[in-house]
Amino acid sequence: MKIRWNSFSFGAHCCASAAMLSFLLSFSHAAQAQRLSANVVPSHYSLSFVPDLKAATFSGSEVIDVNIKEPTSAITLNAIELKFRSVDITSLNGGAQKGSVSLDPEKQQATITFPKTIPAGDATLRIQFTGILNNELRGFYLSKTARRNYAVTQFESTDARRAFPCFDEPAFKATFDISLTIDADDTAISNSAVTSNTPGPDAGKHTLVFATTPKMSTYLVAFVVGDFQCRRGEQDGVTLRVCATPDKVALTPFALDVAKFALQYYDTYFGIHYPLKKLDFIGIPDFEAGAMENFGAITFRETDLLLDPKTTSLRVQKNAALAIVHEMAHQWFGDLVTMQWWDNVWLNEGFATWMENKCVAAMHPEWNIPQYVAADEQSTLNIDAQPTTRAIRARAETPEEIDQMFDPIAYNKASDVLLMVENYLGEETFRKGVHAYLAAHEYGNATAEDFWNAQTEVSHKPVDKIMESLVAQPGEPILEFGPPAVGQVSVAQSRFFLSPGIKPDPAQEWTLPVCFKAGAKNPDCQVLTPSSPSLAAPASKIFFANAGGKGYYRSAYEPAQYAALVAHVETGLTPEERISLTGDEWAQVRADKATVGDYLTLVDALRSDPNADVLSNAVDNVSVIADDVASTKEERDALAAWIRRTFIPVYAQLGNASPSDTGKKRELRAYLFNVLADSGKDAGLKAQARGIADQYLSDPSSVDPTLGQTALNIAAEDGDSALFDKLEKICESSSDPELQDLALRELVIFTNPDLLERALEYSVSSKVRNQDSAIQFAIAMRIRENRDAAWKFIKTHWDQVQTEFTPEMGQIFVDGTGNFCSVEARDDVRNFFAAHPVPAADAALRHSLEHIDGCIELRRLQEPNLKKWLAAQGQ
Ligand SMILES: [Zn+2]
Repeated sequence: MKIRWNSFSFGAHCCASAAMLSFLLSFSHAAQAQRLSANVVPSHYSLSFVPDLKAATFSGSEVIDVNIKEPTSAITLNAIELKFRSVDITSLNGGAQKGSVSLDPEKQQATITFPKTIPAGDATLRIQFTGILNNELRGFYLSKTARRNYAVTQFESTDARRAFPCFDEPAFKATFDISLTIDADDTAISNSAVTSNTPGPDAGKHTLVFATTPKMSTYLVAFVVGDFQCRRGEQDGVTLRVCATPDKVALTPFALDVAKFALQYYDTYFGIHYPLKKLDFIGIPDFEAGAMENFGAITFRETDLLLDPKTTSLRVQKNAALAIVHEMAHQWFGDLVTMQWWDNVWLNEGFATWMENKCVAAMHPEWNIPQYVAADEQSTLNIDAQPTTRAIRARAETPEEIDQMFDPIAYNKASDVLLMVENYLGEETFRKGVHAYLAAHEYGNATAEDFWNAQTEVSHKPVDKIMESLVAQPGEPILEFGPPAVGQVSVAQSRFFLSPGIKPDPAQEWTLPVCFKAGAKNPDCQVLTPSSPSLAAPASKIFFANAGGKGYYRSAYEPAQYAALVAHVETGLTPEERISLTGDEWAQVRADKATVGDYLTLVDALRSDPNADVLSNAVDNVSVIADDVASTKEERDALAAWIRRTFIPVYAQLGNASPSDTGKKRELRAYLFNVLADSGKDAGLKAQARGIADQYLSDPSSVDPTLGQTALNIAAEDGDSALFDKLEKICESSSDPELQDLALRELVIFTNPDLLERALEYSVSSKVRNQDSAIQFAIAMRIRENRDAAWKFIKTHWDQVQTEFTPEMGQIFVDGTGNFCSVEARDDVRNFFAAHPVPAADAALRHSLEHIDGCIELRRLQEPNLKKWLAAQGQ
């Protein structure tokens, strides 16, 4: 699954949810009971559905082949929101008998009791049932456009049980025969190819039968019904189709090209051919996450699949490509080999995240994906340096706990750890380990140990010890390097916290590969263990402890070493290393080991960097200083003046935009435009922004879309009702999901109080989909000028606001409240959610409150330093 916060950036100083281990443990007792017994094991399901899209209901019948280990007279499986019509069972020596059903909605289970004991051995369970096509974006649900209804599915993590009674745990793998009886004019798509399509049984209907699926988990089953149309291609003998509602089929070529490249890339990389005959990519009008890796039938939020490269920014194109190849990587990592239980969901998500970057980097080297990865790692390290972080592998038993496992730790930290291990072993050795792991467990389930033992065996290196230390314990290490001595550098490790008030437990230590730059041998990798206090390194002009920026740790240096790094930052370090160094220095500021002045000196040394990712990673924190550390308008104005003095000459050097500009230059221009107009408050650029924005909106292909979207962002902040009306019209009438999405996001950026109120009213209206409204509130809360008004609106309209929440959206919303920076606001947020709890958002709330505390502390510690620095600048 591709979670929404992955492509919807909260900006440098915000966060996504991270569950807390002790919280999970406190629930583990009651939750254990929710697991199904291993006494009854399914091997095959035959499923037939008859959905009624107008009435929003469906009926179903299923036959499940099971094997019974010990004789029993009761079978418990998962079901919720379903009505059982009849149940019977046939077994070889027990004959046929009818069962009676008792439901336990709390546990989302149904227990079927039979009059006679069913003997051990094979049996066939037959169930007739009915259900509803809900509006909650999960299970078998209804998606709507202005023209019609669609019936679609989303089962991860625990929602297959809303569509059919099943053994809804990842380790109960089975094969599936699926058939759908639907309106004659409609089509259906499921995991495997259609094998027959016959009229009837009733007039005006036809029945589609799909081929038997491979052995797979229930959460990967999918079927969608409607008038979807597809663009077809082929790669490596596999039929690829990108499907959309009819008005959006023109936007499918981009995704098809990405899919073709990625299929060949993965077939080669994994050394295991994609196991099905076809792979579909379907854009769904209402979709909670970004995308979902159903085996053979990947479903997407439309913005992550359907776009026109001529009118969308490079960032949007990158996000869509990453989402598409992320889900494709899951066809192997997740679908072919599945984690044994949700505690190891990182085996799915960390892997797909690591792989998406690798695949897109190979597809588009000019997109500088390694820089994007290095910058993303800085945010992850900041999240993981909070006390409420969790270990990559953590307990999760109930559906709510499982939902909260899909967080930056499972996705990004796990991905960063895999990148570090790959970098240490070498690409080919690591690839062989991946292949060995997949080949050993295909069509089955696996654990973390299975993965790192395979890597250890292939590489003959201590991958098991390294990975266990990173996967099983929470937090991250900081490595503090002493002055270079003869042939060695001393190093002390401890757990790093952003807050200087938290003291690490000295017992917590890591085994980790440290790849560094020193002298001619570059890079050199050595394994640091709890008992090794130094690295063997030659004396050198510069010593940089994180070669390639691929190590998952923070580094701190002696003052002289650090000064040498800053002096050579543009000549001695790669762009990824500059990003890593900048992230480390910002972390030192947060931990009160460096001042904002030290940090701004480093930013100044990077001012002419030609890479937008390097600059944004550095300069976005200057916005944090302006927003969170500065408490007066004078301080903010002085910082804005510094930004203009520093970056106007660099921007001027880029010259005017030209169609021949490289993507790298376009991104740099757009970024500098944004920094100068927004943080730098440059009046001239602000005035220009409106003109560029108007041109972009009237003809999106007439302007560089990367600059056009940036200009729109700037223009909306001071925008008038004419611009607001124009954007609202695009939301309601455009058939381009990217433009619609962009226009919608812009509405809550308007700082004019009346227009902001209109935008918030609009967000809770029926015109905005449930998949979007929580994101609207989260964005409004990010904007300093809009925060108080948005929060007030939320509190007074809570009944309307909360009806829009699905679990993931609730988490995104609660995260948005972490942008406050005062004791009063923190207490207000805490009290409000105590009285108005948001389901599955406990961890997000903890994280939010902690983030507010972090901000308060940062201001207290650093505002005096800011004043000093500004005074020294003559401000
Ligand atoms: Zn995923």
